[in-house]
Amino acid sequence: MRLIMLGPPGAGKGTQAQRLVERYSIPQLSTGEMLRAAVANGTGIGRGAKAIMDRGEFVPDDVVSHMVSDRIDQEDCRRGFILDGFPRTVAQAEALTAMLDQKGVKLDAVIELKVNPATLIERMEKRVADTLAAGGTVRSDDNPDTFATRLDEYRQKTAPLLNYYRRRGELVEVDGMQGMDIVARDIASVLAKVDSN
Ligand code: ADP
Repeated sequence: MRLIMLGPPGAGKGTQAQRLVERYSIPQLSTGEMLRAAVANGTGIGRGAKAIMDRGEFVPDDVVSHMVSDRIDQEDCRRGFILDGFPRTVAQAEALTAMLDQKGVKLDAVIELKVNPATLIERMEKRVADTLAAGGTVRSDDNPDTFATRLDEYRQKTAPLLNYYRRRGELVEVDGMQGMDIVARDIASVLAKVDSN
């Protein structure tokens, strides 16, 4: 099973991806998490990405695309993977199409989680409050100003991808405003129709 989870920040891609990890025993490839790990480890990619991420902007396409291509080549991705946070631009989608062609594998579905902007902001604020209440560390890009930039980047650069995948007949829309369990059920019913061999 090879999937892309698309949707704005706070749409619930990570939460749903995590459930699919358990169901299909395939890894979740979150470019946001890979980049945060690179920042934490002080790698070359991390040093270049930190300031960009703190502003809520996108890291350069070629950096992210190479990172994903290398990750997909690892053994645990042979039976499939869930892409969360990639692709985020049309250039990244084109790079992904080319790399999958070259690796001889096919996407099974692109799932768009649809959530309205006011709800996204509420969710980000709740995530911050819950993290603080639990004594955790809040992501440096989870604050109102940076979140506004992230939503803007999504609208300008990622939303055009929906058409890219719609034209390819791969896009499936799921209502992300519903409770987590209902969203999970809707995704499961979409995937039940997909033949993923
Ligand atoms: P969100 O919860 O907002 O969807 P992520 O954890 O997926 O956030 O990503 C956090 C940040 O990492 C993004 O705002 C961006 O700076 C960077 N990033 C993650 N994925 C990509 C990508 N595919 N292309 C460019 N930048 C990315």
